Amino acid sequence: MKLFNIIYIETHNRCTRRCWFCKFGQERQDSSSRILEDGLIEKIADNLHKLNFRGRITPAETNEPLLDPRMVEIIRLFRAKCPEAFISMASNGDLLTEELFRSMVAAGLDGLCLTLLR
Ligand code: SF4
Repeated sequence: MKLFNIIYIETHNRCTRRCWFCKFGQERQDSSSRILEDGLIEKIADNLHKLNFRGRITPAETNEPLLDPRMVEIIRLFRAKCPEAFISMASNGDLLTEELFRSMVAAGLDGLCLTLLR
């Protein structure tokens, strides 16, 4: 029996923008910024592996995922642990370059949604 089909993993809580309609974008620009420790991300990946997880893995939530300099390696980790999962995320695109995009795809990213927020 499947426990769940989709998992969101917010690896940090910052964003490059402060969209007026976004409570978290407004409030997460201060010193309370946090990151999810490497060990905890690895533990989540190990647990998904034990579940033979084949659903969607999104290493983001209410944040800008590309602000995390570990993102390529995070994608690579989840791809290695869950080879049949669909790894995708949404980004506002502020930090996206062709090189980063290609690196993420090579690491195992399946889908990237670029939002047009202003
Ligand atoms: S880009 Fe997304 S997470 Fe960032 S402030 Fe805007 S709505 Fe919020």
